[in-house]
Amino acid sequence: MRGANSYLGSVGTTIFTVMSALATEHGSINLGQGFPDTDGPADVLQAAADALKDGRNQYAPMPGVPELRQAVAAANKRFYDLDIDWATEVTVTSGATEAVTASLMAVLDPGDEVVLIEPLFDTYVPVVRLLGAIPRIVRLAPPHWDLPYAELAAAFGPRTKAILFNSPMNPNGKVFNAEELGFIADLVIRHDTYAICDEVYEHLTFDGAKHIPLMTLPGMRDRTMRIGSAGKTFSLTGWKIGYVTAGAALTPFVQRAHQNLTFATAPNLQRAVAFGLAKDGGYFASVAGDLQARRDQLAEGLAGVGLAVLPTKGTYFITTDFSGLGFDGDDVAFCRYITEQAGVTAIPLSAFYEEKGAPRHYARFAFCKRPEVLAEAVERLKRHFVIGGSR
Ligand code: PMP
Repeated sequence: MRGANSYLGSVGTTIFTVMSALATEHGSINLGQGFPDTDGPADVLQAAADALKDGRNQYAPMPGVPELRQAVAAANKRFYDLDIDWATEVTVTSGATEAVTASLMAVLDPGDEVVLIEPLFDTYVPVVRLLGAIPRIVRLAPPHWDLPYAELAAAFGPRTKAILFNSPMNPNGKVFNAEELGFIADLVIRHDTYAICDEVYEHLTFDGAKHIPLMTLPGMRDRTMRIGSAGKTFSLTGWKIGYVTAGAALTPFVQRAHQNLTFATAPNLQRAVAFGLAKDGGYFASVAGDLQARRDQLAEGLAGVGLAVLPTKGTYFITTDFSGLGFDGDDVAFCRYITEQAGVTAIPLSAFYEEKGAPRHYARFAFCKRPEVLAEAVERLKRHFVIGGSR
């Protein structure tokens, strides 16, 4: 039989699925894939349950239910002082994953170049390539992950159509600062391109670090597609409700992409997310505060095991350098090894790299888990590496 899609033949199963399956097989504590191990807020769940029973279970409007589009517009105003017209500037998607794809589809033609920042989320490059566009990747270097200004500027050229980046950033917990965002905005405007901003962790920042949407910078309002996800904001990753805020000229393009991808998204879950976005400031502060405490707990625990813990200012994740453990192998081997031998699962950082020369001695651990689960994971690693003497 003729070969199916040649690019997808080379993509393989995502590392998150591979490591989660391995964790299940070995009864390992899964600090790999980033999902909380508790449910989201009870009142948001109740809103979804109520919405299921009130007779609106047919196709939602293609751009999203008005309640959620209004709530997304209101949240843009409340958190970032952005004036957004809910009717013409908001699109609801089936998760941020679809939102990223729809945003790329909205602006790219085959042969266009897209600037990306590595380490990167694993759907970005496959989608860019499937659209016939060309990734131009700029790499951040550990441990500080500073933006290399000259390299970024050099990545922009006459064929650049967009930049796609993620802040707060998975896997390294970097939160782009005002100066870095200003530099990016300047490039976007000078080269007359678009920005796709994956901001799914917008409410999960620590130590007073403030998330700044690129869309709020001068000149960026109509060039930016700003992406959020209820999965992260409400600890409901299974719901897959995402949203794109974009100018009124761009939004029809995002919506034409969305209508050809999924067309519409579960109406009851959308309405529950609308309820959630209107929750008081205490909710948003407590999600971040709670996660910050868990970050501290896991960071201290992993340091006690002998891992070098890199700072993380946002997201669900800690990056660690395991060189100090004297392990003889790369990051993929290390993550397999600790799953099988210590009963704790992490994700190799090289999975977030597309191009050759990725660092091979870092592992990403998720701390969006109950404190007792994090404590047990640290105990297991200690038993193996410290008490067991494998260190
Ligand atoms: N972007 C980033 C950076 C993510 O970490 C994730 C989830 N892990 C997504 C997008 C996908 O979000 P969703 O589950 O809403 O599709």
